[in-house]
Amino acid sequence: MSGALASGCAAPVGIERPVLRERGQREVFCGLTGIVWLHRKIQDAFFLVIGSRTCAHLLQSAAGVMIFAEPRFGTAIIEERDLAGLADANAELDRMVAQLLARRPEIRMLFLVGSCPSEVIKLDLARAAQRLDTAHGGQTRVLAWSGSGIETTFTEGEDACLASLVPGLPETDESRLLVVGSLPDIVEDQFARIFAALGITADFLPARRAGAMPAIGASTRYLLAQPFLGATAQAIEARGGRRIDAIFPFGAEGTTEWLHEAARAFGVDELHFRTTIAPLRERAKRALAPLRDRLAGKRISFLPDSQLEIPLARFLSTELGMVPVEVGTPYLHRGHMARELARLPADVRLSEGQDVDRQLDRVRADRPDLTVCGLGLANPLEAEGLATKWAIELVFSPIHGFDQAADLADLFARPLRRRDVLRLEGASCS
Ligand code: SF4
Repeated sequence: MSGALASGCAAPVGIERPVLRERGQREVFCGLTGIVWLHRKIQDAFFLVIGSRTCAHLLQSAAGVMIFAEPRFGTAIIEERDLAGLADANAELDRMVAQLLARRPEIRMLFLVGSCPSEVIKLDLARAAQRLDTAHGGQTRVLAWSGSGIETTFTEGEDACLASLVPGLPETDESRLLVVGSLPDIVEDQFARIFAALGITADFLPARRAGAMPAIGASTRYLLAQPFLGATAQAIEARGGRRIDAIFPFGAEGTTEWLHEAARAFGVDELHFRTTIAPLRERAKRALAPLRDRLAGKRISFLPDSQLEIPLARFLSTELGMVPVEVGTPYLHRGHMARELARLPADVRLSEGQDVDRQLDRVRADRPDLTVCGLGLANPLEAEGLATKWAIELVFSPIHGFDQAADLADLFARPLRRRDVLRLEGASCS
C-alpha cells in the first residue's frame, strides 16, 4: 500500500484523526476480481488475463460457474517455459490475440490484464497493448492494466482499468457531468433519470459499449460514484477534469448530498433541486425506518477489503444509528474521504492497510455485534461466536442511490437476524 508505515504507527488525517497504519499479512482478493463486474458492464469488451492457473481459478470461482458459449474473459496461462525465459512471451501473446480477434470479431475493446506471474517475468503489457493496438486498432482497441496481487487489492483493479481508458477518451470543451465508477445498469439508469430531471446531462465512465465512451476535457466536472478510484481521478485531472467534492451516494442522506453537490456545480435552481429530490429522499427514508429500529445501537467493525468501508460506516452511523468500532480500509485517500471522515463519530478507530493477526485480535477484544470481512475470515470468526458479513457481497450488490438504500441496510440486518434465529433454535433444542 502506498505510503504505509510500519505496523502500529498513528498519524493524523485531515481532521486530526489518528489512523493506525498497518503493514503485514493481507487477506484480501487481488485486483483481477474487478473483471467479474467489469465484463458485465462493458458489453463488447474482452479481458485477457496474462497469468497462471491460480488466476484462472480465481476468476472462475469469483464469477461463479459460467456456461457461456462465448465468455468475455479468459486467461493466457504462463507456463514454466515462459517463466524460465525459454519462450518469447510477446510473440505468443501476439499470436493468441490475433487468434482471439479473428474468432471473435465482435470484441471492440481488449484489455490485457497483468497478474503476479506476468510481473515476475517482467512482461511489459503496456508496450504490448500499444503494439497490438497498432495492429488491430481499426477494429478493436487494445489497452493494458494490472490486477496483480502484488500491486492491487480487490477494487483497485477497477481503478486500474478505468485509469487505462482515460487517456484514449475523446476530447470535448462542453461543460458536462461525468459520473465515474462502474454501477449496475439499473442504478445507472436511475441516476441518469434523476440528473435529466434536474436538467443536467450526465455521462458515465465506463460506458456500456466501447464505442460509446464519454468525451472529456477542461470543462468536465466529474463526480465519483465509487470511493476507490484514486488513479482514475488523477488521470481525469490530467485531462483537465475537475472533481466535484461530495460524500458517496449511500443511503437517503448520502445520495441527496451527492446529487446536491452536482446540482450546485451545474447551477441548478435550489427550489427545483428540492422539489425534484424530496419525494425520492422521503421514500428512501421511510424504507430505512424499520431497519433503523433493528440496527440502532449495534456495534460494527470493518476489516480492510474494498475501500467502501468508510462511506458505509458513515451511512450506518448517521442514518441507522449503528456504532462503528473499527473501520479498516486497504488504502485511505485523504482528499476523497475528507467529507466522509468528518461525519464519522470521533471515537472510531481507523486503520489503513492490514496486519491480519493483529486485526483479528482487536476484533476478538472488541466483540462487535457484526464484523464485515473477507470470505476467508468469516468462518473462523463465526465459529468464535461473532456475526459476520462478507464484504464481497457489498461490491456485487446494487447498493447506491435512493431505491437501494433499504436493500443496503438490510445486507447488514440479515446476519443479525440469522444469528437471532440460530440462538432461538439453540435455546429450543437445549
Ligand atoms: S494475480 Fe496474483 S494474487 Fe491474483 S490470482 Fe493471480 S497469482 Fe493470485
